[in-house]
Amino acid sequence: EAKAGGRNQYRVFDETMRNRREEELELLADLREALRAGHILPYFQPRFAPGAQRIVAVEALARWIHPERGVIMPADFIPISEKCGLINQVGLTILEQAVRQRCAWERRGIDVSVSVNVSLRQLCEPDFAATVQRILETCGCAPARLELELTETLLLEENLVVARNLEKVRLLGIRIAIDDFGTGYSNLARLNEMAVDCIKIDRSLIQGLPRNEEIVRLVIAMCSFMQVSIVAEGIETPAMAEWAQRHGCHELQGYYFSRPVAAAAMENLLLGDAGRAGVALPQGWRPP
Ligand code: C2E
Ligand code: MG
Ligand code: MG
Ligand code: MG
Repeated sequence: EAKAGGRNQYRVFDETMRNRREEELELLADLREALRAGHILPYFQPRFAPGAQRIVAVEALARWIHPERGVIMPADFIPISEKCGLINQVGLTILEQAVRQRCAWERRGIDVSVSVNVSLRQLCEPDFAATVQRILETCGCAPARLELELTETLLLEENLVVARNLEKVRLLGIRIAIDDFGTGYSNLARLNEMAVDCIKIDRSLIQGLPRNEEIVRLVIAMCSFMQVSIVAEGIETPAMAEWAQRHGCHELQGYYFSRPVAAAAMENLLLGDAGRAGVALPQGWRPP
């Protein structure tokens, strides 16, 4: 009886595994097709500088616009892209479209920088830096207007190809940001050595405020010491925005200002027409 139950359970487990594998393969085939069809594109979320009272940068965030299933979020296709080697193509199409969009905005008199997420696998490609350079040249984009967001764990990489790529993009004048700071393992000496331009404090730290005030203040003090620009991620309330600004964060990013939106909506927001954008910068928000 128990044995039979056990065997049945095993079979159920086996079938679940097989279904999952089949689903994955189907998803991958769909993703390849989506890449070909141009259904993988960047949404944009503003990075608001309280000092300047304006959007100084936008982060490109990948979305899969599926003809039947609607908008598919990164959590549902980035991890599997990483696993199966499709992340290079996903990352490349986002980078290309984001830079092109930024330059189209520039031609219309809107000056914003763009930041793009980069995965370790992309940096393992020997020609990554050359590819980025080609994209910038094709669009006529100033390298200083592009920021690459990397995770702190990536800095621990001993891989020579990764190190060379990082050095090359830095030499081109492209900015480097450390994303989700405070969630991974940091090598502070390496961080200092790398002379990164920007640190984005992870939203889990920001949303733990004011309970974890001491630790966030310590992170901010460390960034100031390294003369690194500080972005507070995951700002959802006026209280968080106020705290982050008062404690020296240079840029604020989060749902309080705007969710990530499609390029057309972002353009309206950048032109100051929040209503048409379907997103609103906080009404009457003034820095303290
Ligand atoms: P990330 O780079 O840390 O991006 C920030 C994520 O937090 C975004 O989720 C954004 O929508 C979300 N977010 C922003 N403000 C708030 C807030 O106030 N509250 C909350 N709860 N969330 C907020 P999204 O777009 O789902 O992206 C998730 C992650 O997927 C990104 O985290 C990034 O690691 C990865 N990703 C997205 N696009 C790309 C890409 O083109 N390439 C690579 N390699 N990774 C990407
Ligand atoms: Mg990011
Ligand atoms: Mg982040
Ligand atoms: Mg993240």
